[in-house]
Amino acid sequence: MKEYKEIQTTENTLYKTICDKCEKEQIYTDRFTKAFEPEMQHIEINFGFGSKMDGKSLSFDLCEYCLLGIIKDINYKTKKERFWKH
Ligand SMILES: [Zn+2]
Repeated sequence: MKEYKEIQTTENTLYKTICDKCEKEQIYTDRFTKAFEPEMQHIEINFGFGSKMDGKSLSFDLCEYCLLGIIKDINYKTKKERFWKH
């Protein structure tokens, strides 16, 4: 026979994400609901062994506005734009 008793546990839950560039916050009202925009993007970069970063990993969160600014700065073109240019 198994008998169970009720225990209280604690768990960590994500409640906000802070942009690593402009420090805007995205608050989560619960696990799945975002209280307001901007959308945050989590970015992970793994550098190969032998590269200048030699196997290091970087991860950071950027809001949509900062990410779009970076994309604009590097003059990123969508595949469609690249296709039609050639
Ligand atoms: Zn930002």
